[in-house]
Amino acid sequence: MTSTNDLTGQTPVQWRAWAKGLGLPEFRGDQCFSALWSGGANTFTEVKGLPKDLAARLDTAARLVPGKEVRRQESRDGTVKSLLEMADGKLVECVSIPTSDRHTICVSSQVGCAVGCTFCASGKNGVERDLTPGEIAFQVLFHHRRRPVTNVVFMGSGEPLFNYDNVLAAIRLLAEPKGLGMGRRRFTVSTSGVPKRIRQLGVDEPQVTLAFSIHAADDETRSRIVPLNRRWPLQEVLEAMREYSDLVNRRMTFEYVLLGDDNMSEAHAKSLADVARRFHAHINLIPFNPVFETPHRRPNWDQVETFAKWVDQLGGHVTVRGQRGADIDAACGQLKRRTELDPPSMAEGDGIVANDSPPTRQA
Ligand code: SAH
Ligand code: SF4
Repeated sequence: MTSTNDLTGQTPVQWRAWAKGLGLPEFRGDQCFSALWSGGANTFTEVKGLPKDLAARLDTAARLVPGKEVRRQESRDGTVKSLLEMADGKLVECVSIPTSDRHTICVSSQVGCAVGCTFCASGKNGVERDLTPGEIAFQVLFHHRRRPVTNVVFMGSGEPLFNYDNVLAAIRLLAEPKGLGMGRRRFTVSTSGVPKRIRQLGVDEPQVTLAFSIHAADDETRSRIVPLNRRWPLQEVLEAMREYSDLVNRRMTFEYVLLGDDNMSEAHAKSLADVARRFHAHINLIPFNPVFETPHRRPNWDQVETFAKWVDQLGGHVTVRGQRGADIDAACGQLKRRTELDPPSMAEGDGIVANDSPPTRQA
């Protein structure tokens, strides 16, 4: 009965074609699209205006949404981490980060990650599969239903540029005027550095923001902590970033996770500031969030301040990123591929709310 496995990922045009393919009037496709994106429907039975028998047949043959929330954790600071179970049982985490004027969703682009950075939980077991456009967009829609989403960052698990087509399709779907209508500038794609795709993004979607996870500005250190650097060394990625930023005419962002004693010497600060100055890049320093099975140490506040001061004095534009949701392992890099419910967390015990409780987002 269904012509695709990823109905959630369909554009309005595809929904109409889908209806037609089933011998239905095209407006049935429009009804499904708007019930999904603005009517809060999770099943065809919940689509207003669909004949009951048709809705029942559709529900047995296909899924309107790709997954369901199986666990929710709420942080003291209002951050909510949801664990979504997809149709094949894969678990995907997404995080809602509310502030007074923004609602940012941190989404995953893959189950696991092939890159395997030494400090990151997401890549510990490699990549299992790409997420579909619908599975990516649904992470946003899911949280949007509680409060309108203003920004989306691809900083959950996965390397978005290794799932380029689906990430782009999800962004375009979320920008769909008949759906959430989000502006392209509301999206930030974070990458560990895939030169070909960086160039392509500048051509395909120049308004989307790109952040480069640099983490060290010398190849020796970077190859140690970001294995992808052995395949595409810094110079190659930076050349692609240069082309990208010339094309989009915007400042680039470097993300730099601060790893205790590994990448925080004065020499590291100097090479970072040098590169950042050359590229007019803004640097986000992210103190390492502890995750299991990593060899790294979280720096203390003095070390963070000293490193930021060094970079600043050498002419780098730098900010230290505030940590949100750390008490529920929802901070950067703490999203992990899981095939079973969590092992004991570094901060377990706080803010866990059963998934059948009503949402209780803190103000
Ligand atoms: N794969 C992409 C996007 C997901 S990771 C990338 O690497 O850019 C998003 C950000 O979280 C990256 O900057 C990443 O380096 C950072 N991160 C990963 N693990 C972290 C940890 N344990 N502590 C702090 N930041 C971390
Ligand atoms: Fe993958 Fe990004 Fe984690 Fe590296 S930091 S393992 S690229 S998700």
